[in-house]
Amino acid sequence: ATPTAFMAATGRGAQLGVLLRGPEALERLRHIDTVVFDKTGTLTTGRMALTETTATPGVDTAEILRLAGAVEYGSEHPIGRAIVAAARQAADDDPLPSVTGFRAVPGVGVSGDVDGCQVFVGRPREGVRLPDGLRQALGRAEDAARTAVVVEKDRRPIGVLAVGDTLRPSSEAAVRQLRALGIEPILVTGDGPAAARAVAERVGIEEVHAQVTPEGKTDIVTKLREEGRRVAVIGDGVNDAAALASADLGIAMGGGTDAAIGAADITLVREDMQAVVAAVRLTRRTLTTIR
Ligand code: ADP
Ligand code: MG
Repeated sequence: ATPTAFMAATGRGAQLGVLLRGPEALERLRHIDTVVFDKTGTLTTGRMALTETTATPGVDTAEILRLAGAVEYGSEHPIGRAIVAAARQAADDDPLPSVTGFRAVPGVGVSGDVDGCQVFVGRPREGVRLPDGLRQALGRAEDAARTAVVVEKDRRPIGVLAVGDTLRPSSEAAVRQLRALGIEPILVTGDGPAAARAVAERVGIEEVHAQVTPEGKTDIVTKLREEGRRVAVIGDGVNDAAALASADLGIAMGGGTDAAIGAADITLVREDMQAVVAAVRLTRRTLTTIR
Protein backbone atom coordinates (compact mmCIF):
# COMPACT_ATOMS: atom_id res chain seq x y z
CA ALA A 1 0.00 0.00 0.00
CA THR A 2 1.14 3.53 -0.62
CA PRO A 3 1.76 5.76 2.42
CA THR A 4 -1.33 7.74 1.48
CA ALA A 5 -3.47 4.64 1.36
CA PHE A 6 -2.08 3.53 4.70
CA MET A 7 -2.84 6.87 6.31
CA ALA A 8 -6.35 6.85 4.95
CA ALA A 9 -6.88 3.31 6.18
CA THR A 10 -5.36 4.10 9.58
CA GLY A 11 -7.82 6.94 10.04
CA ARG A 12 -10.69 4.77 8.92
CA GLY A 13 -9.44 1.97 11.16
CA ALA A 14 -9.43 4.32 14.13
CA GLN A 15 -13.07 5.13 13.40
CA LEU A 16 -13.85 1.43 13.43
CA GLY A 17 -11.98 1.01 16.72
CA VAL A 18 -9.07 -0.87 15.17
CA LEU A 19 -5.49 0.09 16.00
CA LEU A 20 -2.96 -0.87 13.31
CA ARG A 21 0.71 -1.40 14.12
CA GLY A 22 2.00 -0.77 10.61
CA PRO A 23 1.13 -0.76 6.92
CA GLU A 24 1.93 -4.49 6.56
CA ALA A 25 -0.95 -5.26 8.91
CA LEU A 26 -3.45 -4.15 6.29
CA GLU A 27 -1.88 -6.04 3.44
CA ARG A 28 -1.86 -9.21 5.55
CA LEU A 29 -5.39 -8.73 6.81
CA ARG A 30 -6.56 -8.48 3.24
CA HIS A 31 -5.29 -11.96 2.38
CA ILE A 32 -6.43 -13.80 5.52
CA ASP A 33 -8.45 -16.96 4.79
CA THR A 34 -8.54 -18.50 8.28
CA VAL A 35 -9.22 -16.97 11.69
CA VAL A 36 -8.25 -18.84 14.85
CA PHE A 37 -10.32 -17.61 17.78
CA ASP A 38 -9.42 -17.94 21.44
CA LYS A 39 -12.47 -18.55 23.62
CA THR A 40 -12.22 -17.00 27.07
CA GLY A 41 -11.95 -13.23 26.90
CA THR A 42 -12.20 -13.26 23.10
CA LEU A 43 -15.43 -14.91 21.86
CA THR A 44 -16.70 -14.48 25.42
CA THR A 45 -16.44 -11.31 27.49
CA GLY A 46 -14.11 -12.96 29.97
CA ARG A 47 -16.13 -11.33 32.72
CA MET A 48 -16.54 -14.45 34.72
CA ALA A 49 -18.42 -14.99 37.94
CA LEU A 50 -18.13 -17.81 40.43
CA THR A 51 -21.19 -20.06 40.16
CA GLU A 52 -20.45 -22.94 42.53
CA THR A 53 -17.97 -23.94 45.23
CA THR A 54 -17.59 -27.60 46.16
CA ALA A 55 -15.40 -28.92 48.96
CA THR A 56 -14.35 -32.45 49.89
CA PRO A 57 -15.86 -33.79 53.12
CA GLY A 58 -14.22 -32.27 56.19
CA VAL A 59 -13.20 -29.09 54.37
CA ASP A 60 -15.15 -25.84 54.57
CA THR A 61 -16.20 -24.11 51.32
CA ALA A 62 -15.11 -20.84 52.95
CA GLU A 63 -11.62 -22.32 53.35
CA ILE A 64 -11.52 -23.31 49.65
CA LEU A 65 -12.39 -19.75 48.67
CA ARG A 66 -9.90 -18.23 51.12
CA LEU A 67 -6.98 -20.30 49.82
CA ALA A 68 -7.93 -20.02 46.15
CA GLY A 69 -8.59 -16.28 46.44
CA ALA A 70 -5.20 -15.74 48.05
CA VAL A 71 -3.30 -17.59 45.32
CA GLU A 72 -5.32 -16.04 42.47
CA TYR A 73 -4.63 -12.55 43.82
CA GLY A 74 -1.61 -12.22 41.54
CA SER A 75 -3.37 -13.59 38.46
CA GLU A 76 -4.58 -11.47 35.55
CA HIS A 77 -6.67 -14.32 34.14
CA PRO A 78 -10.47 -13.79 34.06
CA ILE A 79 -10.90 -16.99 36.08
CA GLY A 80 -8.53 -15.67 38.73
CA ARG A 81 -10.32 -12.33 38.91
CA ALA A 82 -13.69 -14.02 39.41
CA ILE A 83 -12.28 -16.18 42.21
CA VAL A 84 -10.66 -13.22 43.99
CA ALA A 85 -13.90 -11.21 43.80
CA ALA A 86 -15.90 -14.09 45.28
CA ALA A 87 -13.29 -14.79 47.96
CA ARG A 88 -13.27 -11.15 49.02
CA GLN A 89 -17.02 -11.10 49.27
CA ALA A 90 -17.07 -14.33 51.27
CA ALA A 91 -14.34 -13.02 53.61
CA ASP A 92 -16.55 -10.03 54.46
CA ASP A 93 -13.71 -7.54 54.09
CA ASP A 94 -11.21 -9.59 56.10
CA PRO A 95 -7.96 -9.46 54.11
CA LEU A 96 -7.03 -12.57 52.14
CA PRO A 97 -4.00 -14.46 53.49
CA SER A 98 -0.64 -13.54 51.99
CA VAL A 99 1.13 -15.74 49.48
CA THR A 100 4.78 -16.50 48.91
CA GLY A 101 6.30 -18.13 45.85
CA PHE A 102 3.43 -17.15 43.56
CA ARG A 103 3.64 -18.73 40.13
CA ALA A 104 1.28 -18.49 37.15
CA VAL A 105 1.52 -21.07 34.38
CA PRO A 106 -0.42 -19.84 31.32
CA GLY A 107 -3.10 -22.29 30.26
CA VAL A 108 -2.68 -24.34 33.45
CA GLY A 109 -3.24 -22.32 36.61
CA VAL A 110 -1.58 -20.66 39.57
CA SER A 111 0.24 -21.84 42.69
CA GLY A 112 1.82 -20.44 45.83
CA ASP A 113 2.39 -21.04 49.52
CA VAL A 114 -0.35 -20.04 51.96
CA ASP A 115 -0.17 -20.69 55.73
CA GLY A 116 2.83 -22.97 55.08
CA CYS A 117 0.89 -25.12 52.61
CA GLN A 118 1.39 -25.43 48.88
CA VAL A 119 -1.81 -24.38 47.10
CA PHE A 120 -2.59 -24.91 43.41
CA VAL A 121 -5.65 -23.66 41.52
CA GLY A 122 -6.15 -24.65 37.92
CA ARG A 123 -6.97 -27.11 35.25
CA PRO A 124 -7.75 -30.64 36.49
CA ARG A 125 -4.52 -32.64 36.17
CA GLU A 126 -4.64 -35.57 33.85
CA GLY A 127 -4.34 -38.89 35.65
CA VAL A 128 -5.19 -37.45 39.08
CA ARG A 129 -8.21 -39.26 40.51
CA LEU A 130 -10.64 -36.87 42.15
CA PRO A 131 -12.88 -37.78 45.11
CA ASP A 132 -16.48 -38.51 43.98
CA GLY A 133 -17.94 -35.20 45.14
CA LEU A 134 -15.37 -33.20 43.20
CA ARG A 135 -15.69 -35.37 40.11
CA GLN A 136 -19.45 -34.78 40.16
CA ALA A 137 -18.90 -31.04 40.54
CA LEU A 138 -16.70 -31.10 37.42
CA GLY A 139 -19.44 -32.96 35.55
CA ARG A 140 -22.11 -30.45 36.62
CA ALA A 141 -19.96 -27.55 35.48
CA GLU A 142 -19.28 -29.24 32.17
CA ASP A 143 -22.99 -29.92 31.54
CA ALA A 144 -23.68 -26.22 32.14
CA ALA A 145 -20.83 -25.26 29.74
CA ARG A 146 -18.94 -23.66 32.60
CA THR A 147 -15.27 -23.83 33.41
CA ALA A 148 -14.29 -25.75 36.53
CA VAL A 149 -10.92 -25.51 38.25
CA VAL A 150 -9.50 -27.73 40.96
CA VAL A 151 -8.08 -26.44 44.26
CA GLU A 152 -5.23 -28.53 45.67
CA LYS A 153 -3.58 -28.23 49.07
CA ASP A 154 -0.21 -29.96 49.30
CA ARG A 155 -1.11 -31.75 46.05
CA ARG A 156 -4.36 -33.13 47.49
CA PRO A 157 -7.53 -32.01 45.65
CA ILE A 158 -9.78 -30.33 48.25
CA GLY A 159 -12.25 -28.39 46.14
CA VAL A 160 -13.71 -27.45 42.79
CA LEU A 161 -14.71 -23.93 41.74
CA ALA A 162 -17.03 -23.40 38.77
CA VAL A 163 -17.02 -20.11 36.89
CA GLY A 164 -19.38 -18.92 34.19
CA ASP A 165 -18.78 -16.49 31.38
CA THR A 166 -21.01 -14.74 28.83
CA LEU A 167 -20.74 -14.66 25.07
CA ARG A 168 -19.68 -11.35 23.53
CA PRO A 169 -22.77 -9.95 21.76
CA SER A 170 -20.83 -9.34 18.52
CA SER A 171 -19.27 -12.82 18.26
CA GLU A 172 -22.01 -14.71 16.44
CA ALA A 173 -22.56 -12.10 13.71
CA ALA A 174 -18.81 -11.64 13.22
CA VAL A 175 -18.24 -15.37 12.68
CA ARG A 176 -21.13 -15.54 10.21
CA GLN A 177 -19.90 -12.49 8.28
CA LEU A 178 -16.31 -13.73 8.14
CA ARG A 179 -17.58 -16.98 6.68
CA ALA A 180 -19.49 -14.98 4.06
CA LEU A 181 -16.17 -13.31 3.15
CA GLY A 182 -14.67 -16.76 2.55
CA ILE A 183 -12.77 -16.83 5.84
CA GLU A 184 -12.88 -20.01 7.89
CA PRO A 185 -13.30 -19.67 11.66
CA ILE A 186 -11.59 -22.14 14.03
CA LEU A 187 -11.86 -22.24 17.83
CA VAL A 188 -8.71 -23.09 19.79
CA THR A 189 -8.95 -22.97 23.57
CA GLY A 190 -7.17 -24.08 26.68
CA ASP A 191 -10.53 -24.81 28.26
CA GLY A 192 -12.22 -28.23 28.30
CA PRO A 193 -14.12 -29.82 25.36
CA ALA A 194 -17.65 -29.29 26.73
CA ALA A 195 -17.23 -25.56 27.39
CA ALA A 196 -15.47 -25.23 24.03
CA ARG A 197 -18.23 -27.03 22.11
CA ALA A 198 -20.97 -25.01 23.83
CA VAL A 199 -19.43 -21.72 22.73
CA ALA A 200 -18.57 -23.02 19.24
CA GLU A 201 -22.16 -24.12 18.69
CA ARG A 202 -23.55 -20.79 19.78
CA VAL A 203 -21.35 -18.77 17.43
CA GLY A 204 -21.42 -21.26 14.55
CA ILE A 205 -17.86 -22.59 14.51
CA GLU A 206 -17.38 -26.20 13.39
CA GLU A 207 -13.67 -26.83 13.89
CA VAL A 208 -12.87 -26.91 17.61
CA HIS A 209 -9.62 -27.71 19.43
CA ALA A 210 -10.00 -27.89 23.22
CA GLN A 211 -7.53 -28.31 26.09
CA VAL A 212 -4.76 -26.84 24.00
CA THR A 213 -1.64 -25.57 25.75
CA PRO A 214 -0.15 -22.20 24.76
CA GLU A 215 2.56 -24.03 22.75
CA GLY A 216 -0.16 -26.20 21.22
CA LYS A 217 -1.92 -23.06 19.98
CA THR A 218 1.27 -22.06 18.17
CA ASP A 219 1.65 -25.57 16.71
CA ILE A 220 -1.88 -25.43 15.27
CA VAL A 221 -1.18 -22.04 13.66
CA THR A 222 2.13 -23.25 12.22
CA LYS A 223 0.49 -26.35 10.78
CA LEU A 224 -2.29 -24.32 9.15
CA ARG A 225 0.31 -22.02 7.61
CA GLU A 226 2.27 -25.00 6.31
CA GLU A 227 -0.93 -26.11 4.59
CA GLY A 228 -0.80 -22.80 2.74
CA ARG A 229 -3.43 -21.00 4.77
CA ARG A 230 -3.14 -17.33 5.65
CA VAL A 231 -3.93 -17.31 9.33
CA ALA A 232 -5.08 -14.60 11.71
CA VAL A 233 -5.23 -15.33 15.45
CA ILE A 234 -7.51 -13.36 17.79
CA GLY A 235 -6.75 -13.58 21.49
CA ASP A 236 -6.47 -11.74 24.77
CA GLY A 237 -4.30 -13.71 27.16
CA VAL A 238 -0.69 -14.32 28.08
CA ASN A 239 -1.44 -17.84 26.83
CA ASP A 240 -2.21 -16.42 23.35
CA ALA A 241 0.89 -14.24 22.92
CA ALA A 242 3.05 -16.86 21.18
CA ALA A 243 0.22 -17.88 18.83
CA LEU A 244 -0.46 -14.22 17.98
CA ALA A 245 3.21 -13.73 17.12
CA SER A 246 3.36 -16.92 15.02
CA ALA A 247 0.33 -16.04 12.87
CA ASP A 248 0.34 -14.14 9.59
CA LEU A 249 -1.63 -11.58 11.53
CA GLY A 250 -2.13 -11.25 15.28
CA ILE A 251 -5.24 -9.47 16.58
CA ALA A 252 -5.50 -8.59 20.28
CA MET A 253 -8.56 -7.64 22.28
CA GLY A 254 -8.17 -4.07 23.60
CA GLY A 255 -8.90 -5.17 27.16
CA GLY A 256 -6.46 -8.05 26.88
CA THR A 257 -3.13 -8.52 28.59
CA ASP A 258 -0.07 -6.43 27.67
CA ALA A 259 1.57 -9.62 26.42
CA ALA A 260 -1.21 -10.18 23.86
CA ILE A 261 -1.35 -6.54 22.73
CA GLY A 262 2.45 -6.43 22.45
CA ALA A 263 2.48 -9.52 20.23
CA ALA A 264 -0.34 -8.36 17.94
CA ASP A 265 -0.39 -6.42 14.66
CA ILE A 266 -3.89 -5.11 15.27
CA THR A 267 -5.73 -4.24 18.50
CA LEU A 268 -9.52 -4.19 18.77
CA VAL A 269 -9.85 -1.10 20.92
CA ARG A 270 -13.59 -1.40 21.52
CA GLU A 271 -13.52 -5.20 21.75
CA ASP A 272 -16.20 -5.31 19.09
CA MET A 273 -15.72 -8.52 17.14
CA GLN A 274 -17.50 -7.06 14.13
CA ALA A 275 -14.71 -4.49 13.81
CA VAL A 276 -12.61 -7.36 12.42
CA VAL A 277 -15.17 -7.91 9.67
CA ALA A 278 -15.35 -4.19 8.95
CA ALA A 279 -11.54 -4.01 8.79
CA VAL A 280 -11.33 -6.94 6.35
CA ARG A 281 -13.91 -5.27 4.12
CA LEU A 282 -11.99 -2.00 4.42
CA THR A 283 -8.67 -3.50 3.33
CA ARG A 284 -10.26 -5.35 0.43
CA ARG A 285 -11.77 -2.07 -0.74
CA THR A 286 -8.97 0.38 0.07
CA LEU A 287 -6.06 -1.54 -1.38
CA THR A 288 -7.79 -2.31 -4.65
CA THR A 289 -9.03 1.21 -5.30
CA ILE A 290 -6.09 3.29 -4.04
CA ARG A 291 -2.78 2.19 -5.44
P1 ADP B 1 -8.61 -19.84 26.85
O1 ADP B 1 -7.72 -20.42 25.79
O2 ADP B 1 -10.03 -20.25 26.68
O3 ADP B 1 -8.46 -18.35 26.99
P2 ADP B 1 -6.67 -20.45 28.95
O4 ADP B 1 -5.65 -21.08 28.05
O5 ADP B 1 -6.40 -19.09 29.44
O6 ADP B 1 -8.14 -20.52 28.23
O7 ADP B 1 -6.87 -21.39 30.20
C1 ADP B 1 -7.02 -22.77 30.03
C2 ADP B 1 -7.36 -23.43 31.33
O8 ADP B 1 -6.25 -23.29 32.24
C3 ADP B 1 -8.55 -22.82 32.04
O9 ADP B 1 -9.77 -23.35 31.57
C4 ADP B 1 -8.24 -23.22 33.48
O10 ADP B 1 -8.60 -24.57 33.70
C5 ADP B 1 -6.72 -23.12 33.56
N1 ADP B 1 -6.25 -21.81 34.08
C6 ADP B 1 -5.53 -20.87 33.41
N2 ADP B 1 -5.27 -19.81 34.20
C7 ADP B 1 -5.87 -20.05 35.40
C8 ADP B 1 -5.97 -19.34 36.66
N3 ADP B 1 -5.42 -18.15 36.87
N4 ADP B 1 -6.66 -19.95 37.65
C9 ADP B 1 -7.23 -21.15 37.47
N5 ADP B 1 -7.16 -21.87 36.34
C10 ADP B 1 -6.49 -21.35 35.32
MG1 MG C 1 -8.26 -16.03 26.52
